[in-house]
Amino acid sequence: MIRHPEYLHLLLVMSFQRALFYYFKLFNQMINSQIYYFFRILKTTFTPFRIFNALKLEISYRLSVIGVSTNWKLSPFFISIEPVNVCNLHCPECPTGMQTKNVKPTNIDDVMTRNVIDELQNTLTHVIFYFQGEPLLNRNFTNLVNYAYSKKLLTSTSTNAQLINDEMAKRIVQSGLDRIIISMDGTTQETYQKYRVGGKLDKTIQAVEFLVKWKRELKSPSPFIEIQFLVLKTNEHQMPEMKILAKKLKADKLSFKTAQLYDFENGNMLLPENKKYSRYELLSDGKYHLKNPLHNRCKRQWKGAVVTSCGDVLPCCFDKDSSFVFGNLNEKSFEDCHDSEKALKFREKIRQNRKQFEMCRNCTEK
Ligand code: SF4
Repeated sequence: MIRHPEYLHLLLVMSFQRALFYYFKLFNQMINSQIYYFFRILKTTFTPFRIFNALKLEISYRLSVIGVSTNWKLSPFFISIEPVNVCNLHCPECPTGMQTKNVKPTNIDDVMTRNVIDELQNTLTHVIFYFQGEPLLNRNFTNLVNYAYSKKLLTSTSTNAQLINDEMAKRIVQSGLDRIIISMDGTTQETYQKYRVGGKLDKTIQAVEFLVKWKRELKSPSPFIEIQFLVLKTNEHQMPEMKILAKKLKADKLSFKTAQLYDFENGNMLLPENKKYSRYELLSDGKYHLKNPLHNRCKRQWKGAVVTSCGDVLPCCFDKDSSFVFGNLNEKSFEDCHDSEKALKFREKIRQNRKQFEMCRNCTEK
């Protein structure tokens, strides 16, 4: 028979264990995704080839800033791959959504995507499955992600989440996608649709719920769910409520992002009052200017590249009209496009005078 003090002792130990269990369970739920994502970044970056490549890029870039060309082959450590070039919404500052460009709807070719990943896998660390269109309109999206994941690459995407139903959420979680950015620019339908024209806030909220549910069901710490709120004049008053909503939805992160606007020199109706969230500032000449200085350099030319759904290799994600195509993957390898004569000339022109390019004048790269 258990004597009274021993019984009490046992009870105390059990309660402590139980409290510890609940603490770790709660702790795990809250930070599992953050920790896992952090380790995925380390794991995909720290391989001998990738570190060597990053060092090579850094040296080559720094020498280029002082006018010394190394002529080394450049292999970026991230690429954006565009799964499809059309969108289901009509956001006013997006050329794809507003259909200002005459494009033929195209899903990226599966074989081409695998080839470019195979070609770059030793030196690449991160594949961003997003450029202009809504990535989930490509039905092969999760297979593309899974292929990059199987090659030990970090993967991410950005979506308006209108197509994430229960089944799609499960497929996304199973694909191994590391990070998903979900655009949610309002806490009421009225405010949300002022920018996400044609979108339903309910669907976006439900998408986060489905993803959280499937992460729990499948005991998966990925994807890291980031809600992104583009701060505009039309929604900035809802930023405090957004913080509450993101917490309630158990998103891993909420970020408030500044918007790139096309017509900004004479002001723009979407410019927020809160100057912290504006890329532009009013100067004494009565015109708005980009806040960051426009130095004659661009590290992004060394770090990254963009592959459109048609296979064009572009200098960066600011080239929304494909004005500076370095080559096409249907005709050449990635390396031949990225180090083509055109690419070298473009980089040299940036070094001489970045302001000569309209897109570089409205770019946050420092
Ligand atoms: S817009 Fe110009 S400066 Fe900016 S990332 Fe692209 S190439 Fe570089």
